[in-house]
Amino acid sequence: MHEYSIAEGIADSILPAAFDNGATRVSVVRLRIGEMSDIVRDALDFAWGVVCEERGDVLAGCRLEVESVSPHFVCMDCGNEYDADRLHPRCPSCGSGKTLLTKGRELEIASFDIETETDDEPDAPDDEPDDSGEDPGGAHGPRGRAPRPRPEPGASSQAN
Ligand SMILES: [Zn+2]
Repeated sequence: MHEYSIAEGIADSILPAAFDNGATRVSVVRLRIGEMSDIVRDALDFAWGVVCEERGDVLAGCRLEVESVSPHFVCMDCGNEYDADRLHPRCPSCGSGKTLLTKGRELEIASFDIETETDDEPDAPDDEPDDSGEDPGGAHGPRGRAPRPRPEPGASSQAN
């Protein structure tokens, strides 16, 4: 069933980008699938579920949303471009049968949504070590705790 390799291909395509963006989970993947493609939607859904389980937590429960793309033809005689829902339809403009399918076989990843560890706005990377008591891997602590400047209490807010 070639839907399985398609599903694997989708995962292979999105995961590097997702990890680059700090994703801990991909929640939904949106596809555009041409109606003239031979992809069986049910089989793809099933295969996607299998691939998601194989890839572990990052794809756990990831949904697949599919937008179908109707076939798009161009007439070889008059150049008319049109959407149609059947293969090799005659040109609605000039009636020619010499038409070329230009869209409708594609499988595209339109977008995907990720969840990240922190939902805060992305901050600058850890350039400056904040004096927040945590020393990762403190085999030999570089320096003791620096006296942290405290905000002066007192002159803050006056309750009415
Ligand atoms: Zn035509």
